[in-house]
Amino acid sequence: MYNNQEANAMFAPQGSNFQGPSAPPSSMFDNVPGYEGTGMGGGAGGYLPPPTPAYPPPAPAPAPTQPEWNIPSISEDTAREAFGLFASNHCCWSKAPAKDGVTTSMDAFNTYRYRLETFTESRSTEWDHEEYNGQPVDAYTQPAPGPWDIHVQAPGHFEDHTEHVKVPYTSSVKDCHACMGMGKKPCTECAGAGNKVCWVCSGAGVRTGDDQCTHCNGRGRENCSHCQGHGSQQCDSCNGKRQLLVYIKLIVKWTNNKEDFVVEQSSGLKVENLSSVSGKELFRDTQYLVYPVMGFPDPAVAQATERLVRDHQAKYSQSSRILQQRQTIELIPITKVSYKWKGNTHTYFVFGNEFQVSADEYPATCCCTVM
Ligand SMILES: [Zn+2]
Ligand SMILES: [Zn+2]
Ligand SMILES: [Zn+2]
Repeated sequence: MYNNQEANAMFAPQGSNFQGPSAPPSSMFDNVPGYEGTGMGGGAGGYLPPPTPAYPPPAPAPAPTQPEWNIPSISEDTAREAFGLFASNHCCWSKAPAKDGVTTSMDAFNTYRYRLETFTESRSTEWDHEEYNGQPVDAYTQPAPGPWDIHVQAPGHFEDHTEHVKVPYTSSVKDCHACMGMGKKPCTECAGAGNKVCWVCSGAGVRTGDDQCTHCNGRGRENCSHCQGHGSQQCDSCNGKRQLLVYIKLIVKWTNNKEDFVVEQSSGLKVENLSSVSGKELFRDTQYLVYPVMGFPDPAVAQATERLVRDHQAKYSQSSRILQQRQTIELIPITKVSYKWKGNTHTYFVFGNEFQVSADEYPATCCCTVM
């Protein structure tokens, strides 16, 4: 089974030191009512649970009556064509088994894939800063709205997306902590001296013999090229502006949490193969909150839909707001084809709407020896 949430967690930022050693001290942050727990960023802060809605949301309702669940099958011609194409895509393989093999049997091992997608919005906050260029300064002019009261336009449903928004009434101006409000810092190349030892004479002022060093005119030192001899460089925290706009940043994250359940089948085809193909869509239901699929003939699917719907609604309503759910059932065609070639029996699989082929034991994988 595929779990998108786990994959996301693996790539979440580690630790909170992305701002490096120049992270501002916490004394720079005002106390904003409603935002007391806001940290300094780096992804360490937890998500803010959404408030309980003022009125209960509509209860999930069963989807309309299901269509007939029928199972298609593929013809021998379709299978052979897909197999031939598959063999010719492997440049070193002999085409002979695909061309001359005699089909002895075709068995359908069609399977169902149930997929549940839960589209959520989550919100978190952290302090942030940027160079001050005369932006509006509004801290304390009004109480800051709660993190879930700020209107942020959502993207289309089931699309992952992140937005950063300045929380209104939290912006203030502070002297830059990195340069103490100077706008510049000592040059790191010359440690603020503006010059360094001449690289030609190594500081002696003379070269071999008594000739004066022409590079430094006998001074033994040369101007620092990094700071043009000034000994300082622009502060990169405030970009030389001396002041910073400090504010609380609201991070709004929309995530499509997708989970698949594939009914086990006994064909021998590995289930991983199926993630790259689509099937025939038998059922689709999109609602604010879906209700488990009713009356599906395969008991494994019926159980999976109950379990996943319950799990998702419990899990994702804790720290995020569920905006929409979608569930689908696909029938993925799998045909196991057995064929005879040079007296031996071999098999291959044709699966998915795309007629993808898997043949782990193709009998002639090197055209140079088997012809
Ligand atoms: Zn010199
Ligand atoms: Zn320098
Ligand atoms: Zn600065």
